[in-house]
Amino acid sequence: MKNDIERVLFSQDELAEKTRELGKQLTGDYQDKNPLVVGILKGAMPFLSDLVKEMDIYLEMDFMDVSSYGSGTVSSGEVKIVKDLNTTVEGRDLLLVEDIIDSGRTLNYLIDMFKYRKARSVKIVTLLDKPEGRVVDIKADYVGFLVPNEFVVGYGLDYAERYRNLPYIGVLKPEIYEEK
Ligand code: 5GP
Ligand code: MG
Ligand code: MG
Repeated sequence: MKNDIERVLFSQDELAEKTRELGKQLTGDYQDKNPLVVGILKGAMPFLSDLVKEMDIYLEMDFMDVSSYGSGTVSSGEVKIVKDLNTTVEGRDLLLVEDIIDSGRTLNYLIDMFKYRKARSVKIVTLLDKPEGRVVDIKADYVGFLVPNEFVVGYGLDYAERYRNLPYIGVLKPEIYEEK
């Protein structure tokens, strides 16, 4: 699997350090708020798992599965809720954890939905941000790294469901796409 990677963008150590930094910041900002940390499956799972271990506060976790992408690399523009939360969000401080923001459509949809459900606050934590891909005006409150307009995989991010278990983030060799 690792042989399919052309270039590493963020190493395991860099990811760990950034996650620690974000965790510290969130620990300060969310003291006594008992936030509901919402992971957007499946991509945010490795990041969320590391992030919450760096947050020294009481918190709860829940997960949603939404789909806006098919198995390829291009956004369909459509957001569908595949699995909803089990938790009532009314009055809660929400932290939406994402792997990457590209067009912003997924989060735009979710933020509106959580406001409608009367969350007290909704903030976004994203490991990666691809500002050039933006179609709707969405800004994350906590960002790990900015990435150029390239398709990246690893540490939760997939290509056709593969590579989520890579411990770092990288770019695939072009022939991997050509095989499809
Ligand atoms: P958005 O709604 O912001 O366009 O899309 C966000 C979702 O698209 C991410 O959660 C992720 O699943 C997928 N996505 C966007 N860019 C990339 C990328 O470079 N690599 C991978 N693997 N997924 C991406
Ligand atoms: Mg995602
Ligand atoms: Mg995907």
